[in-house]
Amino acid sequence: MFSFEGDAAWWRAAFETASGLPGELAEPVQLTCRAQRVGSDIHLEGGVEGVVELECSRCLARYRHRFSDAFRFVLEPAGNRVPADPEGAAALARDGLCLGDELETGWFRGSEIDLEPIFVELVSLALPLKPLCREDCPGLCSRCGANLAVARCDCEQKGLDSPFAVLAGIRDDLVRGGN
Ligand SMILES: [Zn+2]
Ligand SMILES: [Zn+2]
Repeated sequence: MFSFEGDAAWWRAAFETASGLPGELAEPVQLTCRAQRVGSDIHLEGGVEGVVELECSRCLARYRHRFSDAFRFVLEPAGNRVPADPEGAAALARDGLCLGDELETGWFRGSEIDLEPIFVELVSLALPLKPLCREDCPGLCSRCGANLAVARCDCEQKGLDSPFAVLAGIRDDLVRGGN
């Protein structure tokens, strides 16, 4: 069993070179991995988890997001094969490991495998594409920019955004006219 803990410094170093920093790490990333030889193949199985501070894509507030994901790879010896995509070929030469598109199977070469690039990829896959501070975050008012997650503005009361504003006006007139 192999385990690794990535702190905030590791996080910054890993993501600034990869896909760009998704947010600041709030609690260390825990990685666990079990490697097993099955014939000439290597089976890798484990998980990643951590807490990261993300920015809500609706209200722009920063919030803590706990992520966790499990993984399982079957790696075959690459032998003399070279991956068709240049990125995979570079990874195999550099890290001794490259994964297929589905991240389930891959090739390895040599006696040492550098798992760190894979871990970084797994963590980025475990993060939400569209971060939300909560599932039903109402976001910002499109009219005045107020954060509706914190307090309501009075734009809605004025009825400016409502397609029924006109109808409501007519109804008010009718009511008034009836008196
Ligand atoms: Zn939000
Ligand atoms: Zn408003």
